[in-house]
Amino acid sequence: MVLSTFNSQLIIAGPCAAESEQQVISTAKALAAIGVKYFRAGLWKPRTQPGTFEGVGEVGLQWLRRVKVETGMLVGTEVANAEHARLAVAAGLDFVWIGARTTTNPFAVQEIADVLKNNKEITVLVKNPMNPDVNLWVGAIKRLLKVGVEHVVAVHRGFFNAQCTMHNAQLSYRNDPYWYVPIELRRLMPKVPLLCDPSHIAGKKELVAGLCQKALDLDFDGLMIECHCCPELALSDIEQQLTPAHLKVILERLVVHERVDKDKELAELRSKIDSLDSILIDALAKRMHVSREIGEYKRQHNMPIVQTGRYNDVIQNRLELAEELGLSTDLVKQIYELIHEASVNAQCVESR
Ligand code: PEP
Ligand code: MN
Repeated sequence: MVLSTFNSQLIIAGPCAAESEQQVISTAKALAAIGVKYFRAGLWKPRTQPGTFEGVGEVGLQWLRRVKVETGMLVGTEVANAEHARLAVAAGLDFVWIGARTTTNPFAVQEIADVLKNNKEITVLVKNPMNPDVNLWVGAIKRLLKVGVEHVVAVHRGFFNAQCTMHNAQLSYRNDPYWYVPIELRRLMPKVPLLCDPSHIAGKKELVAGLCQKALDLDFDGLMIECHCCPELALSDIEQQLTPAHLKVILERLVVHERVDKDKELAELRSKIDSLDSILIDALAKRMHVSREIGEYKRQHNMPIVQTGRYNDVIQNRLELAEELGLSTDLVKQIYELIHEASVNAQCVESR
């Protein structure tokens, strides 16, 4: 499947789970009517608790095929093991996704990769693992590329964070976006298209629109959004599914950015950033050098490496400086915590 776009962005939408043939068909038709070209519906649902709705399973493959025939949309579902992958391929699905819980497990990913070996037709979407470990995510993508799967796409769906529960403040997400993780994935794998799944980050429908815009602002290639013809009746993820009409409003309001960067003024500003960064790195290297000399001095004079009084003075002074210059003190504090940790580590190494 070659991915095409909606307003230059790739949009995949559909219910969290296929629940009945009627729910699948009416959701799909409503989505096709607003221009969505890719339809998702989970058939095998990995749930936290047993005894909850775990998906309709294999029977739903026929419903997805019906969507394909009747709407022309390309269709896909989640695969969590080799058997799911075999069934999805046999049913002629256009794409499958590996869910966050499965990406966390390299054996399961490998089993799925082995079934999809040399598959040039199907697109495989790989959601980020539950924990913010970019290497685990990259590793799962590599397992697919290594066996010859040609179309692999990454999907950012946020990360488990004990603080991000729905009991928290009004504006808390179900999963923490930790945007730096997908940004790092993109740096490591620039050719792999990157989508955002705002539904599983948000956990509630009111927060979906803002996350869609944020993803576009960060240059994501598209969105995978949960939509249900009657969200209030959904058997899973009831709080986060949108109606197709709501999705239409969100898509129409999205500000889509120009993706080709040919602006001269921007190039000049970037070159300023490049020189400032080189000053920063140079200063850091010099600082680390002095820090090693201090380590050596402490070792010769039998002094402890960390001296709390001195560390407090440093932080205090740098925060005051930051405030004077209108910099975020939170940011400067975080940076100094990292620098201090690196200095202490360097001094420990020296003194061994
Ligand atoms: C889903 O897309 O319905 C799903 C279960 O997602 P995740 O693996 O991101 O939790
Ligand atoms: Mn879901």
